Amino acid sequence: MHVQDDLLLIREQLYRLTETAYFENALNDHARDVIALIDHVAPRVDGMPDLIAYELRRQIWTDHQHLNGSTSNEIPYEIVHVLTRALRSWIDDRDVLVTTALLDEPAFYFTRGLRWPGIAKLLPEFEQPRRPYTLVQISLPRLYRTYPLRCAPLFHELAHYLDDTVNVSDEFILQARFTDVGPGRDLQRRYMREHFADLFSACYLGETIVHDIMRLNNVNGATRTHPDPSYRIEVVQAFLAGRTHRVVDQFNAILQERGLPSLHTRFALPDVAAAFDDIRPCSIASDQELYGIFPAAQAYLAEILEDRRPSWSDWSRQSANRTINDLVEKSIRNMDLKEKWRNAAMEQVGHTAQSELK
Ligand SMILES: [Zn+2]
Repeated sequence: MHVQDDLLLIREQLYRLTETAYFENALNDHARDVIALIDHVAPRVDGMPDLIAYELRRQIWTDHQHLNGSTSNEIPYEIVHVLTRALRSWIDDRDVLVTTALLDEPAFYFTRGLRWPGIAKLLPEFEQPRRPYTLVQISLPRLYRTYPLRCAPLFHELAHYLDDTVNVSDEFILQARFTDVGPGRDLQRRYMREHFADLFSACYLGETIVHDIMRLNNVNGATRTHPDPSYRIEVVQAFLAGRTHRVVDQFNAILQERGLPSLHTRFALPDVAAAFDDIRPCSIASDQELYGIFPAAQAYLAEILEDRRPSWSDWSRQSANRTINDLVEKSIRNMDLKEKWRNAAMEQVGHTAQSELK
């Protein structure tokens, strides 16, 4: 009974969302698909086994939560833009949408939402959406919404989505033939997921990720979910220094077998100082610089906070922090706008050329 009531509450909320102008079209379509699913499930859910009913509610709930967080007045637009760009270089699936939810706690999460193939098996009589979207659901602290430099751990969360989709960590464990097939094997799998996510982040952010690992995992030794932070840092540093490392090499071998891109650094550092010294957004010339603005701006901010940038000496710590994050946002947004303008102009040229040919 509770499940049915919850679904109806979610439906009401989703319906309200679709009535606002805050959504991009794909998200709006997805919200309508979820409403159609609720209309199908709600009258039947009481007759379903508890496990299935709860799992359906979980998936629908997290989709609703991330749709809510992805309305245009809430979404951390710039970071979502960069994550989407990073994901497309691994799986070019236009029906996968990066969405966010804001948390009131200092944590980053990745969750899996609705999986239409699973729904099709479970409810064969339900008419599937014409264009089934999948949400990559990433949660971040609300306080960091306008602080892209604090959002670097989202690359790590994005990697968990990618890993779950292409199963590289599962394959790692399979190939490693661990003799322990009980809880020990699960633990190793969890650890490998973390190593893969760290390496993925290091591809885009470099050394920055090492600092994030240290900051977020202020623990000594391994836990039930995460490997020892010092070992995580060792793996990342070996990768960035181009040294051979068993973990890195095996991941790359698996990626190659799957025909996927390898783990390699994908960022270039833009000259942020030339622009930021004059409190101007920095011009980003390539995808590599789009990722590289994170480590470059992080390093620049660290220099201000350590009093190594005289032009910023009168700024308070908080004002400098806010301003640098603001400049990063503006730099990313400018690049996106320039690209959109260029694409629109190219399209226009294409149309004109076509009509001249006619
Ligand atoms: Zn993780």
